[in-house]
Amino acid sequence: MNRTVIINEFGGSNKLKVVDYPINEPGIGEIRISHKACGLNFIDVYQRTGLYPLDLPHALGMEGSGIIEAIGDNVSHLKVGDRVAYASMPPGSYCDKRVMPAAQVCPLPDEISFEQGAAMMLQGMTVEYLFGRTTPIKAGDTVLFHAAAGGVGLIACQWAKSENITLIGTAGSDEKCKLALENGATHCINYNKNNFEEKVKDLTNGVGVDVVMDSVGQSTFEGSLNCLKPLGMMITFGNASGPIPPFNLGQLGAKGSLKITRPTLFTHIGNHDVCQEMANNLFTKVISGQIKIIIGQKFPLSDIALAHDSLESRMTTGSTILTI
Ligand code: NDP
Repeated sequence: MNRTVIINEFGGSNKLKVVDYPINEPGIGEIRISHKACGLNFIDVYQRTGLYPLDLPHALGMEGSGIIEAIGDNVSHLKVGDRVAYASMPPGSYCDKRVMPAAQVCPLPDEISFEQGAAMMLQGMTVEYLFGRTTPIKAGDTVLFHAAAGGVGLIACQWAKSENITLIGTAGSDEKCKLALENGATHCINYNKNNFEEKVKDLTNGVGVDVVMDSVGQSTFEGSLNCLKPLGMMITFGNASGPIPPFNLGQLGAKGSLKITRPTLFTHIGNHDVCQEMANNLFTKVISGQIKIIIGQKFPLSDIALAHDSLESRMTTGSTILTI
């Protein structure tokens, strides 16, 4: 049996169905992978609820690791038996085996376990582009990073520390703040207890931060803009609390010639060579010990609904994987 998690309609975690899905031979540019683990990401929740619509029915899951079982024509960077990991479109990684495009599948260095591989590709390459490819950020700059104890968050805390960037994190509890601090955040604000805007002003002597990285969206967006220095850069890259309402760009001028961008990982890794370069930068940080991939939770694939509920209800910290 090849277990695969699909949705037939958008909605709650009860819409996730584990079915037996036929497995084929790979076509041109494709590989067949036997998974060892898959990653759980907040984007999977957006896809399940329909915030990021998919054609239905659709399999879910954007990340995994495993072993190459078969290779189609025109794939030169992989061979049968390779250990690999990936973050990739289209969704469909919540399964035992799948046939998928090879372009975003990267060989996994022997020093990195399958579980780490499944936990780090999507969140880690996101951090790589946020800090390295979105706006110039140098040692000594200050970044405000929301949800700093989450999957992307704990990698971001460590990445910032490794580059001598001051990271002010926010998180939803004192325990989560402690975790962010232990992983390299310079400060962490419990934004359920404190007004983060005021705290950021205090921590920066009223100056504000150079860059905000905001994946929480609706509940933080306005406050985030108010935390920026004049000419500062707002990177809005997610909507865990809900989508940002329509926004008047004129506010950017009024608040001090601010800049704003809304990037996605999949634009960055659309080109195979760039994807491999980003993965290599991440692998280097992990193998050198500068970044530890913290797997806060593991769920068997069959408990996929529970895994979604935990992520959505803010119960998780660090990365979450599904074991096969
Ligand atoms: P996380 O592990 O960070 O989980 C999301 C966190 O968001 C929660 O743990 C919670 O932390 C915080 N949060 C704040 N408000 C809410 C709310 N109302 N409901 C639920 N959670 C809330 O997830 P990921 O690491 O997978 O992803 C982090 C974010 O980054 C997501 O928004 C995701 O979509 C985005 N992302 C964007 C990418 C891109 O390229 N654009 C790529 C990868 C991820 P707390 O309790 O501390 O507030």
